[in-house]
Amino acid sequence: MDYLKCSLYEIRQMLENNEISSVELTKLCLDRINSTQNLNAIISTCEEQAIDAAKKCDQARKKGEKLGPLAGIPVVIKDNINLVGTKTTCASKFLENWISPFNATCAQKLIDAGAVIIGKANMDEFAMGSSTENSAFGVCRNPVNEDYVPGGSSGGSAATVASFQSFASLGTDTGGSIREPASFCGVVGLKPTYGRVSRFGVVAFASSLDQVGCFTRTVRDSAIMLNVLAGEDKKDMTSAKILVPDYEKSITGSVKGKKIGIAKQFFSDALNNEVRANIEKAIKLYEDNGAEIVDIDLPSLDTALAVYYIISSAEAASNLARFDGVKYGVRAKNFSDTVDLYFKSRTQGFGKEVKRRIMLGNYVLSSGYFDAFYRKAKKVQKIIRQEFETAFEKCDVIICPTTATVAFKLGEKCDDHLAMYLNDIYTVPVNIAGLPAISIPCGKVSNGLPVGMQLIAPHFKEETLFNFGDFYEKHAKEI
Ligand code: GLN
Repeated sequence: MDYLKCSLYEIRQMLENNEISSVELTKLCLDRINSTQNLNAIISTCEEQAIDAAKKCDQARKKGEKLGPLAGIPVVIKDNINLVGTKTTCASKFLENWISPFNATCAQKLIDAGAVIIGKANMDEFAMGSSTENSAFGVCRNPVNEDYVPGGSSGGSAATVASFQSFASLGTDTGGSIREPASFCGVVGLKPTYGRVSRFGVVAFASSLDQVGCFTRTVRDSAIMLNVLAGEDKKDMTSAKILVPDYEKSITGSVKGKKIGIAKQFFSDALNNEVRANIEKAIKLYEDNGAEIVDIDLPSLDTALAVYYIISSAEAASNLARFDGVKYGVRAKNFSDTVDLYFKSRTQGFGKEVKRRIMLGNYVLSSGYFDAFYRKAKKVQKIIRQEFETAFEKCDVIICPTTATVAFKLGEKCDDHLAMYLNDIYTVPVNIAGLPAISIPCGKVSNGLPVGMQLIAPHFKEETLFNFGDFYEKHAKEI
């Protein structure tokens, strides 16, 4: 029996039936991380803590205690999520020695649900990037084909699940950082509604867009994870006080009578033909099973990328001001005065992409440019949001590709920033509008790399994503 290949749902049953213990399973996962080190999916493991948690879980199970929904299951979290006693580096040299003094709420929720956190995943520095090539700890590789990028910024979180090192992982998504890597690595990636999951203890990139989500190998597993993660948190004022349904129960096995919105703007010339063909086949499958296709219009979609880079960089510039070598971050050694200390620490600590964002952010916020860029971007953001709301008056879900192409080769887009930013054209509009979306594997192209299909739902309607996603997953073999 290859336990590592099981879904989270399956392994949970095996643990419950005592077919395998949590300690055995945790050791298998840690061994797998070791034997697949070439992927560089993990920045640091927490072996001792993990084995300890697994032992406690096994003992509690023996005693017949009531266990949480993730009891004994090994998971990984992105390295921008605080976990007591572990390094939380954000893949930055600046934070290479930073040890978390507290748990992020999402990490605490995993622990409370019984999960065994085995490591912290590689990422683009401060979550800025689309390929996990901007990590101070080396690039991460795509487990499907190691010459290719895993996507980013949560590339390590996608790769750990795709390479069977863990059963689920946490990532963060500000403009696509869960969905794009999920699509590139052939796993399921969920970005919940803005406010559905607490961000307390997660290092902020762009606070009005950031959202915590998860990677899994099946849609049902994603629902199980969201059941654990969702809910109001008094420590995060943006977390929503809205009832959390049982997401697993939202999987009904039918899409009959449901309406799927298709926007031509998501199927422009930029879209690779093989990717387009796969998505069209999937839409046809829904149609053949009783769903109705309706045309929707999102005329301002092509402005979303510009809006995103203005808003996210502006927020990043202020969020990252705290990393100055005094409050946080490695302090530069030789400095003449306080300003020089800030200057040298930040110059030495931050990588190139992070510096680029800080400069861009300060530029769009500076007097004289504020109205022309930042204020205008906030206005266009409202329009994009309204266009989605109007579209959802006509449909239950919007379907489109997650990315216009499949994964690209390592190094291919490193010197072409615009090409790198364009990876996110289909994912950023969702963050701009604060909507929930999921990327699910949708076949492969001729070179064997996976395609991702993005399902987008109205605010707080993650149930729709799980139902549609699970339906496709179950029936995909028929096409
Ligand atoms: N690739 C996008 C960026 O670099 C998205 C990042 C993210 O979602 N964290 O900004």
